[in-house]
Amino acid sequence: MAWFKRVKKPIESPAPVEERRVRTEGLWIKCEACRAIIWKKDLESNWNVCPKCDHHFRLDAKRRLDLLLDNGEWAEHDTALFSSDPLEFVDTKPYKKRLKDAQEKLGMSDAILTAEGRLGGRPVICCSMEFSFIGGSMGAVVGEKVTRAIEMSTSRRLPLVIVSCSGGARMMEGAVSLMQLAKVSAALARLDEALIPFISVLTDPTTGGVTASYAMLGDLNIAEPGALIGFAGPRVIEQTIRQKLPEGFQRAEFLLEHGFLDAVVHRKDLKGYIASAFDFFLSQHEL
Ligand SMILES: [Zn+2]
Repeated sequence: MAWFKRVKKPIESPAPVEERRVRTEGLWIKCEACRAIIWKKDLESNWNVCPKCDHHFRLDAKRRLDLLLDNGEWAEHDTALFSSDPLEFVDTKPYKKRLKDAQEKLGMSDAILTAEGRLGGRPVICCSMEFSFIGGSMGAVVGEKVTRAIEMSTSRRLPLVIVSCSGGARMMEGAVSLMQLAKVSAALARLDEALIPFISVLTDPTTGGVTASYAMLGDLNIAEPGALIGFAGPRVIEQTIRQKLPEGFQRAEFLLEHGFLDAVVHRKDLKGYIASAFDFFLSQHEL
């Protein structure tokens, strides 16, 4: 046999890639701020705050209520409100389909949960927005649920907390979504007249029509560290005023420094902060 002919059997091909790889996919996450690789469970048990650098990741609406309300116990209100798609809107896909997909994926009727529970032992009404539901946008259902929550606060004299996380008004409902700004603001004015305290918590991101209505109408407006808060996006503003915007523009810390917010509060301190703020408010006016 010629010397250059391969006599031995070829090396056996190794096991397919999928078999060799240990299943780690989805268990780890890279922190977008400090680039540390964090075990997802560590992140979750820390209420989605990076254990290395304190970067605040987004928290979903249900976990937010668990964080704020005693023993994670709360009763949801108005679960049966669904958008009727008043404009029969279609963009890259029909709005009806978009709604159905989000409802099935998240098990929510729309982008907000309104609930009642106890915060530091005190009964409260608490609303929590869900960004994963069409960008946390406010259409007729979000507007109506918030309004009903405010009205319940007013009639039962319960303090109110609204946690915002939203891209703004919902384009697919056009003017109907913009009308919510006025409706919610009017309900908040009545809450104010009744001397019931309302604390607005702005989380990353809170923009557009939500900033322009209830998110900025709290007796206290407080934000989480690093949250993006604004009305129009930076590019639109730069083009309008023809000036370069300063560093950190539209971040919570910048807004606090310029008087648009009352405090920036770390997520782990949020519940305690709200509880003592209610103590303060309610000691001023006997409810
Ligand atoms: Zn980090």
